[in-house]
Amino acid sequence: MAKKKSQSMVNIKPLVFKGPKYLVQGLSQAVEGIKFTKVIQTFVMENANLKLSVGKDGKTIYSGTVRWIGNRTDGTRGTVFCVQKGGKEGSDLQLIIPTEDTAQDIGIDRSRGMIKINSKESLKCSVCGKGVRIFDEVLACPLCNSKAHSEHLLEWISMRHSCPICKKGLELDEDNNPYPVD
Ligand SMILES: [Zn+2]
Ligand SMILES: [Zn+2]
Repeated sequence: MAKKKSQSMVNIKPLVFKGPKYLVQGLSQAVEGIKFTKVIQTFVMENANLKLSVGKDGKTIYSGTVRWIGNRTDGTRGTVFCVQKGGKEGSDLQLIIPTEDTAQDIGIDRSRGMIKINSKESLKCSVCGKGVRIFDEVLACPLCNSKAHSEHLLEWISMRHSCPICKKGLELDEDNNPYPVD
């Protein structure tokens, strides 16, 4: 049984980190019946044929249907998945943001049309000290590259006008991106 399972699983981690365009190409070859429309840089799924599940320590912690696949918005190359829990219309949408810090392995189970992500929390937020999860948006200091939960770093900079790690001066531009100040 174990052997059969491994044959149907294909590693797609490199494609996920390369970006949505490459990932969607790979997925279309690996799984039958995936249909999507490209809207600017985002691939919107036209059906519910692509599923995604996130595991941690051998347990499934989230699963649903992929609604769209897009670019990471933190300025680095990579993919963001928007997943609808349970796949039901009207239920909550969740962003899944795999990075080197939050994703151990990423594969596609070809027979089930399901992306399987093994998540990890190897990065600690520079503000609150807690682990960054695969569901969390991350922002980095442009000077020392220390990373934090987006919300936490935004709050920190708007109150203290500096980086919590290197202590140098930071402000936020109109898009809430931190930039250095003297
Ligand atoms: Zn935090
Ligand atoms: Zn810094």
